[in-house]
Amino acid sequence: MKNIVLFGSPGVGKGTQAGILKKHYNLVHISTGDLFRHNIKNETELGKLAKSFMNKGNLVPDNVTINMLKAEVNKNANANGFIFDGFPRTESQAISLDLFLKEKGEKINGMVALEVPENLLVERILKRGETSDRPDDQDEKKIRNRFTEYKTKTAILQEYYQNQNKYFGVNGVGSIEEITQRLKEVIDNL
Ligand code: ADP
Repeated sequence: MKNIVLFGSPGVGKGTQAGILKKHYNLVHISTGDLFRHNIKNETELGKLAKSFMNKGNLVPDNVTINMLKAEVNKNANANGFIFDGFPRTESQAISLDLFLKEKGEKINGMVALEVPENLLVERILKRGETSDRPDDQDEKKIRNRFTEYKTKTAILQEYYQNQNKYFGVNGVGSIEEITQRLKEVIDNL
């Protein structure tokens, strides 16, 4: 299996690149943000719970997110590997993921991080908000809060994976094709 964590702050382009990479490497793409949005749309219990956090730009609690992630991995028992997009987002999620994969005799091959300066991102997200129906993309206060969540809870994961020699930073500024190419150069060697 090839298991990749696609990492980066909100709006960095993880979803776009994951969509391309999953086809190229025949991997299952799991986006926790998409899963939550799917549950909100279908008004499930999980969706109702997640909505109150997401709409403020806060992280959904770890236990909820981790259980959802595990269930999704288990649904795809025959996968060639996974692209994790938007997960892990806290150290506790990263530790749970490592343990969970270890029980299966698997591991994370690498964290590939898209690096884009923050000042480019808020504008990108507001632009996305014009055409998407994501309430968290349409309000600058919510967007700023997502960056605060990222800086206080998520950014430390760079160090977590660096300590395992599994962190690979990639310049996320450029055309979609250029960025895909940069990501492939890293992932081919994982
Ligand atoms: P973005 O990367 O642009 O912020 P996502 O779709 O990845 O968009 O996430 C949207 C929201 O979903 C987050 O702000 C958060 O509320 C929730 N969410 C997604 N993944 C996680 C996670 N791993 N842990 C906690 N909350 C999450």
